[in-house]
Amino acid sequence: MNKDWDLKSYLLKKIKKQGGWVSAHNHLDKAYLVKPGDLSLAYLSLQKKWDLIDELKKTQTVQQIYDRMAYGLEQQLAQGVTALGTFIDVDPLIKDKAMKAADKVRERYKSQIDLVFINQTVKGVMDQEARKWFDEAAQFVDIIGGLPGKDKGREAEHLDILLSTAKRRQQMIHVHVDQFNDPNEEETALLVRKTIEHNMQGKVVGVHGISIAAHSLEYRQKLYKDMVEAKVMMVACPTAWIDHRRREDLVPSHNAVTPVDEMVPAGITVAIGPDNIADYYKPFTDGDMWTELRFLLEACHYYDLEELVKIATINGRKVLGLI
Ligand SMILES: [Zn+2]
Repeated sequence: MNKDWDLKSYLLKKIKKQGGWVSAHNHLDKAYLVKPGDLSLAYLSLQKKWDLIDELKKTQTVQQIYDRMAYGLEQQLAQGVTALGTFIDVDPLIKDKAMKAADKVRERYKSQIDLVFINQTVKGVMDQEARKWFDEAAQFVDIIGGLPGKDKGREAEHLDILLSTAKRRQQMIHVHVDQFNDPNEEETALLVRKTIEHNMQGKVVGVHGISIAAHSLEYRQKLYKDMVEAKVMMVACPTAWIDHRRREDLVPSHNAVTPVDEMVPAGITVAIGPDNIADYYKPFTDGDMWTELRFLLEACHYYDLEELVKIATINGRKVLGLI
């Protein structure tokens, strides 16, 4: 029976036809870390959470990390995800344990899914020990990852290290930017400037870009133009920030979601991913790709079905450097 009147079925069919879901942003090494008694910790600020799991990272074994990563991956495979990008922490605390677990995951699942590993710099790249592990990670991962917010005040230097390393190694970079729905944040604009400075057009992907919508229309339009020129792409993680806490800044009204309704018509490639799954950051996120796509289209009032299918499929392959 033709069920075109069922828009969910219609979209799922199109997504399958286009090669299946691409889950472009995850942190599988941290998935399923949260326990029912830990939920009070989920109220802490993101900055506090970055340090919260330090103790856990020290005690987790490679096998434990592997088990959680494999479980997370199985959940994605079951929905028809055919390519997946995941950050893995590589820093002075976790050391090479997540890399070793990721290696085992790749070995076990490589025939079933295109896996792309990206290093998370949750301890920044300025500290000498953190930098040592960043350099170590660069040799293991497919894509260089970054978190300039962790080197607050030195974001430009953070990006210089990421971009020069990626350029030397001929890799792409994925960078968490503009996460806090804060009109004072301008990390995407900085990322664009740095992309051009390092001549890395087409190799750079931002993740989130939530704060962009807290800026004026004029600012946003100029930024979109610059992103297109620098070929900077974006990954939206719709449920990741939709719970953003109330702020008192007076800004253009918007939902705390990557503004795809403006970005896609402006010519920017946008992909999608669940980000954190069942951890202190997002205890109830389950990695369901339909939920992510639904939140995106609802929060942005965006119903371009053809573009939504691209966001869910080939755009993901583009940002992961698979096509
Ligand atoms: Zn992330």
